[in-house]
Amino acid sequence: MVRYVYDFTEGGREMTDLLGGKGANLAEMVRMGLPVPPGFTVTTQACQVYLATGEPPEDLAHQVAEHLAALEREAGRRLGQVDDPLLLSVRSGARFSMPGMMETILDIGLNDLSVLGLARTPGRERFAWDSYRRLVQMFGSTVMGVDGALFEDALALLKRERGAADDTRLDTCDLIRLVDVFKDLVLEHTGEEFPQDPVEQLERAVLAVSSSWNGERARIYRRREHIPDDLGTAVNIQAMVFGNYGSDSGSGVAFTRDPATGSPGVYGDYLPNAQGEDVVAGIRNTVPLQELEQLDPVSYNKLRGYLQQLESHYRDLCDIEFTIERGKLWMLQTRVGKRSAQAAFSIASQLADEALITPAEALGRVTGDGLARLMFPRFDTTAVGEPIAHGIPASPGAAVGAVVFDSAEAVRRAATGEKVILVRQETTPDDLPGMVAAQAVLTSRGGKTSHAAVVARGMGKVCVCGADGLTVDVRERQFTAQGVIVREGTLISVDGSLGAVHLGAAPLVDSAVMRYFETGGGLPGPGAQPVVRDVHRLLEQADTGRRLEVRANADTPEDAARARRFGAQGIGLCRTEHMFLGDRRGLVEAMILAGSDAEREKALAALLPLQREDFIGILAAMDGLPVTIRLLDPPLHEFLPDRTELAVRVAEYEALGKQPEARDVTLLAAVNRMHEENPMLGLRGVRLGLVVPGLVAMQVRAVAEAVVERKRIGGDPRAEIMVPLVDAVEELRLVRTEVERVLAEVSDASGIAVECPIGTMIELPRAALTAGRIAQDAQFFSFGTNDLTQTTWGFSRDDVEAAFFSAYLDKGIFQVSPFETIDREGVGRLVKMAVAEGRAARPDLKIGVCGEHGGDPDSVHFFHDAGLDYVSCSPFRVPVARLEAGRAALLEAAASDDK
Ligand code: PEP
Ligand code: MG
Repeated sequence: MVRYVYDFTEGGREMTDLLGGKGANLAEMVRMGLPVPPGFTVTTQACQVYLATGEPPEDLAHQVAEHLAALEREAGRRLGQVDDPLLLSVRSGARFSMPGMMETILDIGLNDLSVLGLARTPGRERFAWDSYRRLVQMFGSTVMGVDGALFEDALALLKRERGAADDTRLDTCDLIRLVDVFKDLVLEHTGEEFPQDPVEQLERAVLAVSSSWNGERARIYRRREHIPDDLGTAVNIQAMVFGNYGSDSGSGVAFTRDPATGSPGVYGDYLPNAQGEDVVAGIRNTVPLQELEQLDPVSYNKLRGYLQQLESHYRDLCDIEFTIERGKLWMLQTRVGKRSAQAAFSIASQLADEALITPAEALGRVTGDGLARLMFPRFDTTAVGEPIAHGIPASPGAAVGAVVFDSAEAVRRAATGEKVILVRQETTPDDLPGMVAAQAVLTSRGGKTSHAAVVARGMGKVCVCGADGLTVDVRERQFTAQGVIVREGTLISVDGSLGAVHLGAAPLVDSAVMRYFETGGGLPGPGAQPVVRDVHRLLEQADTGRRLEVRANADTPEDAARARRFGAQGIGLCRTEHMFLGDRRGLVEAMILAGSDAEREKALAALLPLQREDFIGILAAMDGLPVTIRLLDPPLHEFLPDRTELAVRVAEYEALGKQPEARDVTLLAAVNRMHEENPMLGLRGVRLGLVVPGLVAMQVRAVAEAVVERKRIGGDPRAEIMVPLVDAVEELRLVRTEVERVLAEVSDASGIAVECPIGTMIELPRAALTAGRIAQDAQFFSFGTNDLTQTTWGFSRDDVEAAFFSAYLDKGIFQVSPFETIDREGVGRLVKMAVAEGRAARPDLKIGVCGEHGGDPDSVHFFHDAGLDYVSCSPFRVPVARLEAGRAALLEAAASDDK
């Protein structure tokens, strides 16, 4: 019989796949001897069965009953017993943390009788009825499907009748009445009584929480975080403890270090006389954790001890939830905490300094995405005026956008390309789509651990929360701050690093990390910002360990120079067609459309010196490093005049009975002759070089003469010539002969030997499939994964992302666009095949990649595993690729150590 239920005493943190993060970590805390209320976990496997078949696994109810009996024995109380009943919480907990995205049901075990038992204890009467009404509300909406707004409305009505500002003003009689109203709502809307049997409550709650894996919020979150849809959630059933018994009770959250900046020292929020849910929801403003020291020094000191114990045990920043019930401290959750990018770098460095982790492990704790975030600009503090509001800097960065007041409006405006800032009193999981769509989230309530803060930080979104000078009026669609009324649509600037909000669009300045790269990435001086020192240290670590070289895609001397400052070890792709846009487009047009050899030669002759100068500049900027120059690869339509425009111009003249311009007529005829329905699959790349006489020769001559020129003045130019869009080795062979002829000619004429390796791009499936043959004529391969993705999937790279990718993502066909992250299964398979066959034919074949994937963290790991020699990406991504290449080597080493 498959085991679907594990007691907290039976698990551990190595079991996250089966028990989910929450369950595994609760078990780990029990193992460490920390005070955890007893409980058990229903596995993710049970959830998978339930979601796949619509039925719970056969033996589940029996196994739950057995563990419940054990739990009751340990707690010394029974579920539903009339006197002092045991109450249970039922919470989701998946393999990956999905904060607030699934359902929770509390107070299971209360019914018409046990509520009386609970209420009999002196001082607990109001608390008992409040718990019961919460149960009917949560169970009614989550398990029985009653619209949650009906309960909210009934509650609001009663508060109005009583003139009560908040829930705490309702007395026991009010709550007793509310329970009746809620139960009636359940009956009216489901035709069923609220279940009185506590075991039935428990079983149904477990299934409802399992089903919430497929709720809308959870699905959106998974898509964003690239969490697979088939993992399912575990469900944790735990004895409830109460932080809302009075002033000797309370709930809080704590971090072992500051999750926004990484600064050492215990950090967190505490809410006296409240349940955990109230803290995270940001409903009442919390107090800093340090105040607990005054309120309850014993618990505070114990908590500090546990936090230290957890951080040493997990060897990382941990966050926890805790409750104090009448002076007794209980640990309700822990996990390795989410943190801002800055904090990730800082904490990794600190832990390495403290020798809690090795320098190599420190590298494993940071990510390329995080580094990219640190390179974003921030506001120019000298140029912005006084802020109109201040809040808690919950997630760093700078964002400018139009104010919106609800999630739907944020989504609507963002879909039109508008940048928006979502402003709420506090956010709830229902605001998730709006948070995804917004540049930043601004709330007037809640601390660094409120929903808004936790979720925004996880997404790398700017967030300022708890800006209590802000009065948000969603109905009027405006907020007020310092007497200023700010209406929906007004531009504001939100500084998530300082917690400031400014009216209007504040100017931005580069980040310190970006400045560090721009100035060459050398050893930071003593005055450097700590974040710069942390980045430097971890990048050095990455550079020492990585096997992949990192080059850049650059077509101008400026970009080449920047790439070099950012640590590029050469240029992996210089797109020569980019050199002919703007003013020079006419020359390419003349060359392509030339009516005679003489016309074409004239155009080519005009292009030659321009090309030579370009190459001299780039080779100078990359002196001593390889520069892969790709022969012209223009999708023709980008270089020809617009066919419709020309046709209209000619037709207009004709309609007026006038003679159109002769040039227009000739051009139109030529453009019609060359018109392509699918330019991306047309006369591009090597094909153009083979049909336009003199084109390859001109480009190669420009390269060779640039090399000669650089050598003459003592430079060390290392040009490589790359042939694009090759399908068949025969194409490459023809071009190669031409290239070698011109190189020899320039060498002879100048008396300076010009030796350029000649290689090809692999960007068509046929090239990958015949890589063994192609390698016989290529000294290097560079995977053009943009085209290889386009042609393997049959997706037009210019059209599909806007046309239907969001539907494909919704339907789970892929979790991320294959143009962003390499499709390992399909495109990746072609890459691996081409690497193997290419190297078999030519063992010293140098292999790289220069499609966009070269700068994508996940893809860098794939290219490392596939045995490539280098990745090439845009200059700004070079540091990201360096870091990820280092991490890939590290992971590989760790995996082989495990074997
Ligand atoms: C590619 O196809 O991946 C590539 C680098 O070439 P381009 O994007 O210029 O077509
Ligand atoms: Mg290409």
